[in-house]
Parts: sequence; C-alpha cells; structure tokens
Amino acid sequence: MEWRGRRGSGNIEDRRSMGSAGVGGIGLVGMLVVLAVGYFFGVDISPLVGGMEQGQPTEQRQLTAEEQEMGQFVSVVLADTEEVWTDVLARQANMDYQKPSLVLFSGAVQSACGGASAAMGPFYCPNDRKVYLDTDFFRVMKGKMGAGGDFAYAYVIAHEIGHHVQNQIGILSKVNELRARASEVDSNRISVLTELQADCFAGIWARQASEKFGTIDQGDIEEAINAARAVGDDILMEKAGRAPMPDSFTHGSAAERSDWLQRGLASGDLRQCNSFAEAGL
Ligand SMILES: [Zn+2]
Repeated sequence: MEWRGRRGSGNIEDRRSMGSAGVGGIGLVGMLVVLAVGYFFGVDISPLVGGMEQGQPTEQRQLTAEEQEMGQFVSVVLADTEEVWTDVLARQANMDYQKPSLVLFSGAVQSACGGASAAMGPFYCPNDRKVYLDTDFFRVMKGKMGAGGDFAYAYVIAHEIGHHVQNQIGILSKVNELRARASEVDSNRISVLTELQADCFAGIWARQASEKFGTIDQGDIEEAINAARAVGDDILMEKAGRAPMPDSFTHGSAAERSDWLQRGLASGDLRQCNSFAEAGL
C-alpha cells in the first residue's frame, strides 16, 4: 500500500504524548463491567495479550519516530475512509457521511463508553462516535498474530470505521435492542453478525480505495484477508491455548471473517453486507 506523502485526515485526536495520565484508575473490575455492557465494538485480543502492560500513569512524553510515522499512516487511511464512505453513502444510501474522529492513545484511554486498555484492541464507541486505537496494536498483530503489513493494519482501521457506518445507518442501536432481550448464546451470535458486517464494510472500503486511489495491489488484499482470519475467534482461542467454543464466539470464526471481508471486496455493495438478513433476523 502506498501511503507516504499522501493527504492525511484532520480528524485525528492524538493523546499518545499524554501517556495514560489522567485516565484515572480504570482497574480490571471496571474494565470487565464495561465489556459486559457491550458498548464496545472492537477487535478483542484480550485472550492473546493477557501480559500486555496496563497503562501505568506516565508523564507527558515525546513520541518516538516510529510512533509519529504510525500516526501519519493512520491519518492517511482515515482520510481514505472519509472519501470512500462519503461517496458510497451518497450513492448507495442517499446519506451524508458524518466523519468520525479517531483517537490515538497509549496504554489506556477514557471514552464515552468507559475506560479501556490497549489489551482490548482498537474499538469504536457509538456514544461519542469515535474510534480508539493504540498503534502498539499493530506490533501485536505482526508479532503475536502473524498478521503484519500496512494493509493488514488498514483493514483493522476500516473495520472500526465499519462500526461507525453501522452506527450512522441505525444498525448498532437495533443490535443493542436485540441483544438486551436475547439469551447469552443468541446475544453472542448477534455480536458475531455485527462484526461480520463491519468486515464486509471494510471490504467495500478496500475495493473503492483500490479503484479510487490505485494505491493497493493484490498482495495488500491478501494481507487484509490474512488479518481477518488472524482475528477470528477460533484462531485467537487456539493461540491462547483454549479449545474454540463456537457458542462463545463474539466476532466470528476465521473462515466467516475472511468470507465477509471478501464479499465486500467483490461487490462494493452495502446490500451484499446484510449478515442479519442471511441469519433470518
Ligand atoms: Zn468489531
């Protein structure tokens, strides 16, 4: 993927130099409560990164050169999503795209959905319409998940933006309604359908970005598909040394995730991403 020297988005909120000071004592208990409420729509890597440092309060600091570079990368990908979704929503849904902000953080962060640590992975908070991302996550993807590469990282950003699109078109509020009165197994399945649709939306983005900017090649697409598999619940559980239990999946299996990403890629069409209708909902 070519991104150096390209236009970045103005909608980045960079909180990394603040460290995690000011986040307050989130603590593990608070975190679990937040997770149970289910307001986060993230790439949950907590089975993998149990040992990832919880953000200790730190002093204001300078960003490293690598962090600055990752910030620029994220900003270019965010700008690409803005252009693509403005166009896709106008043409396919007759809607004005409302651009979300993307918060870069380091270690721990406070959002309108509660506090979160980097171990939860990137997430979208519908309450403040912001995507939250610790760029160290990319290192985890490369190292622990075998899913490195700039387009793999771009897929993760596009997936979170997919949740924002779901929010704007009214899907997330319906999902929360459905989940509130569902059994645990059904609620997990609804969560999976939500995640698969976000993967499909990420595929729409990848297709349009490829056509619009010509900055993406076949190797990139393979990187994204590989990343979609790597964040499958079965793969994450296996890597954490646990037997995969499909009823407990909340994000979908590797096969499902890569299938839905490819559906968006092949069609570029919002209507082909209706995972709920296919499940009979
Ligand atoms: Zn998600």
